Amino acid sequence: ARVVDPATSDDERVVEAALRPRRLSEFPGQPRVRQQLGLVLEAARRRGSPPDHVLLSGPPGLGKTTLAMIVAAELERPLRVTSGPAIQHAGDLAAVLSSLDEGEVLFLDEIHRMSRSAEEMLYLAMEDFRVDVVVGKGPGATAIPLELPPFTVVGATTRAGLLPAPLRDRFGFTGHLDFYDVADLVTILHRSAGLLGVEADADGVHEIAGRSRGTPRIANRLLRRVRDWAQVHGEGRVDQHAAREALALFDVDQAGLDRLDRAVLEALCRRFGGGPVGLSTLAVAVGEESDTVETVAEPYLVREGYILRTPRGRAATAAAWRHLGLPVPAHQAF
Ligand code: ATP
Repeated sequence: ARVVDPATSDDERVVEAALRPRRLSEFPGQPRVRQQLGLVLEAARRRGSPPDHVLLSGPPGLGKTTLAMIVAAELERPLRVTSGPAIQHAGDLAAVLSSLDEGEVLFLDEIHRMSRSAEEMLYLAMEDFRVDVVVGKGPGATAIPLELPPFTVVGATTRAGLLPAPLRDRFGFTGHLDFYDVADLVTILHRSAGLLGVEADADGVHEIAGRSRGTPRIANRLLRRVRDWAQVHGEGRVDQHAAREALALFDVDQAGLDRLDRAVLEALCRRFGGGPVGLSTLAVAVGEESDTVETVAEPYLVREGYILRTPRGRAATAAAWRHLGLPVPAHQAF
């Protein structure tokens, strides 16, 4: 697994759980979402009724699960956790919904991956707090309405655009999470270092934050690798020297690019003169599947403006040439 992968593994979830902020006031970054959500929750608390359903959208590792847990904690209600892929049939969802207690918070991760029949049941349940349980099969089947106590759905998705409009419309509040700036990542890293019981100075933390691709999950992972380095080769302190050495060892450069990212840029600039070049040709040049280049390396390179997707293929920008320490060619238009 890449050290800069924004997704997580089951093993890592255990470590991550220890680093999650528990309350909104402890949650650094995302000021707008935090303030808006804070208002929605405080008003619901004062009214003594569940808030609107909450949809959280944004790339992996930015804190959607953390915020879902915070919603339950702020409302002082239990949290039930499930996910779109775990709900393949409407019956799976009916079982979860019919066992909810009043005011409970239901976290539905990857909500865009639920089956169509479950989606339809969900929006009825979200609107009317009711599900129709179908008993029997064929012409003799009957739908028995089942009343549900009021509850709150917190849905999380990396692809809000994939949600059908009727489902999206059932969420009274949508928070879109964006990549974090370095200052917020610095705050997160200082907090995480404290929780991990490691000493970390400002320069060390700043060095890690700048290479974390705007993603707290990656920042925390890099911090753990720098801590390892500091404990084995240094005096256990996360400082700039430890950060530089450890991140060089794990092939994460100053801009947060790893070996694969740089290989793509190298091939694009050195072999194809900056492109444009087709994805499959580029992939062969770096010895990877097209799919890997497209889904693993490209999103960050495009987001950071190193490469462009053009109708004729992938093209390097001036930033790509500069990143590799190469002169920007005269014909380079962007
Ligand atoms: P996925 O879509 O992959 O499930 P996610 O958006 O749900 O990702 P989380 O699981 O909430 O992300 O966060 C990943 C890790 O990053 C956790 O360890 C969490 O503590 C940390 N994290 C995320 N956002 C913040 C934040 N604002 N402050 C501190 N830590 C954060």
